[in-house]
Amino acid sequence: MTENVLIREVGLRDGLQIIKAIVPTDVKMAWIRAEHAAGVKEIEVCSFVPARLIPQFADAEQVVAQSLRLPGLTVSALIPNLRGAERGLELGIHKMNYVLSVSEGHNLANVRRSVQESLEDFRRIAHMLRDIPEHQRPILCGGLSTSFGCTIEGDVSEDRVVELAEMLAVAGADEIVVADTVGYAGPAAVQRVFKRVLAAVGVVPVAAHFHDTRGLGLANAVAALNAGVRLFDATLGGLGGCPHAPGATGNVVTEDLAFMCETMGFQTGIDLRQIPAIRAMVAAALPEERMAGAIGVAGLPKNYQPVHLTT
Ligand code: ZN
Repeated sequence: MTENVLIREVGLRDGLQIIKAIVPTDVKMAWIRAEHAAGVKEIEVCSFVPARLIPQFADAEQVVAQSLRLPGLTVSALIPNLRGAERGLELGIHKMNYVLSVSEGHNLANVRRSVQESLEDFRRIAHMLRDIPEHQRPILCGGLSTSFGCTIEGDVSEDRVVELAEMLAVAGADEIVVADTVGYAGPAAVQRVFKRVLAAVGVVPVAAHFHDTRGLGLANAVAALNAGVRLFDATLGGLGGCPHAPGATGNVVTEDLAFMCETMGFQTGIDLRQIPAIRAMVAAALPEERMAGAIGVAGLPKNYQPVHLTT
């Protein structure tokens, strides 16, 4: 039986948030349209962090409004707090990605609050959304940053990751994201943590967010697949990092992850033949950035066949 794997493009948020050069709105939209045309079904198009903190997202409203016109695309945005959720709601985004860090030190550096305060804010957002009729209500996603270690605190407790995932699910998360924000994870820890989180949150879908900082991104993705994860964040050309995690450059590469999933018999729906042109376009817009990824360099093998669902 063939299964789907959903790969969400987060390069426009995780990739662009650390890039100082402001990418023009029409370049962002060309990137979003091209990936949508290539079969990417979900794109995190921006962050609702105030523009004075990250000027890159000053055009969030325009990017969201134009992305919402693309048929069948799930448009998501990072929501740092209740105010961000209100903005997202006004604009009609499909999905809100709320993030808190498992590590107190990272949470404080990232959103200037304790983990407990971030949890309370999540509960307020969930409460606000509860009153909205179901067909109009955006999906609320609870993300756990630094789930496998932290540049500030070092070790992060696996028990605490599971506990926080459960708390987010109980508070009303429609989906949980477990993130290796700083590239500390290895396959053994990934398999262990995702199995425990999946068991703890029941029917709530769990997504994996990996950085390839130490070269283990795809190995970690295999471990997560083995644990039962079918939702992944990734970025075109591996763009990305974290403003409070020095050296955390490089998300898992969208095209390499999609290629790997297809070789394992999972259908991604992404037409990898369209990727080189998209990479070239984004690379031209970001001349200072290094595009990572093996498929981008070596191309697709001659015998490459996309997987199609057989059931
Ligand atoms: Zn990230």
